[in-house]
Amino acid sequence: MPGTKLFVISGPSGVGKDTIINHLKSRGRDWYFVTTATTRSIRDGEKDGKDYLFLTHDQFQAMLDRDQFIENAEVYGNRYGVPISQIDIAKYTNRHAILKIDVQGALTIKSKFNDALLIFVQPENIDQLIARLTTRNSENKSELEARISKASYEMDQSEHFDYIVTNNDNEILGSVEMIDKIISSH
Ligand code: 5GP
Repeated sequence: MPGTKLFVISGPSGVGKDTIINHLKSRGRDWYFVTTATTRSIRDGEKDGKDYLFLTHDQFQAMLDRDQFIENAEVYGNRYGVPISQIDIAKYTNRHAILKIDVQGALTIKSKFNDALLIFVQPENIDQLIARLTTRNSENKSELEARISKASYEMDQSEHFDYIVTNNDNEILGSVEMIDKIISSH
């Protein structure tokens, strides 16, 4: 259907994707923010169907067996996937679909949908990222180490993205504005 484009917002864990997305949502644009599915456990404050579609392993596997994901991956030991039905909602309502997924997922989307637009959110430098991950305190030690070791590989993938936005500390609204402009210009 004309009018619908896929925009993927990605970048290393801890870079501020969730905060940026929440700001974008509050701007009231007529875009469809895709809810992806996961097998990870629900965290305090999260809502099923809003933050994620929280599935059991069997439910996830059943969707996979029926080819109901446009992309799926294992991220930090949990499974995640973008349901086709979510993209269909964007198409039927003629809105852009905004996805927040990890870097490998972003590259998979680009390989399947050449006209998808990939936005890479990067920190000013790796130390800033490590500091953010450490202070947010939402991961245990081994999870934290996994995120840090994956981050430098992910930063190297930024060249494959259509846009790179540097999310400086204290300037989050600048990043929100840039991403808003990128999407609005399409
Ligand atoms: P968290 O569990 O912390 O919410 O997310 C972990 C990572 O998985 C984040 O980078 C998030 O963007 C990514 N993610 C969420 N949904 C999907 C998905 O459907 N596919 C992929 N590849 N990554 C996802």
